Amino acid sequence: MVQGVTEVCSECEFDPHQIASDQLGPELLRLAIGYEAIISDASVSGCLALNSRPSAETWSILEYTGHVEFIYGSVGQMCEIADADELAPINGVDPDEHVDNAHFNEVAPADMSGRIRRAGEQACDALAVLDSGALTWTLLFNGNPAPLGLLTMAMLHESHHHLRDITQLAGH
Ligand SMILES: [Zn+2]
Repeated sequence: MVQGVTEVCSECEFDPHQIASDQLGPELLRLAIGYEAIISDASVSGCLALNSRPSAETWSILEYTGHVEFIYGSVGQMCEIADADELAPINGVDPDEHVDNAHFNEVAPADMSGRIRRAGEQACDALAVLDSGALTWTLLFNGNPAPLGLLTMAMLHESHHHLRDITQLAGH
């Protein structure tokens, strides 16, 4: 149980209470494998939303995946800089700006599959080496103090939420 989480998501039904604190990493990896599966399915079926936006303001499957890859990188970065005694600062990015600039639609789907899998493995590994108290260590995220466990849970939710988004895009 990660301290401070309360809400079940009304859209993707992510329930933070169902995630034990030692399962954050394995869950991140499990979802990453879900992204791989959707990319593979969408490639096979020739789904147009794989690498083109269904509408101007809706990301493609590769764009969602690239965004989540970035989030997973942030988890690894937070695990590295989190400190028991100091507020290590970390800043998020503007998601739309980041995705616009990254040109994820030009990445080969098989490459993006490999990237999200590696990002999942790395985030899982980064959490696995921390000692048990580390999830309560506080970081300064965009200037706001928040514990590592809570920030990681928020990122796990984002991954879960976007997996639902791309599952719908892929027509499942
Ligand atoms: Zn959600």
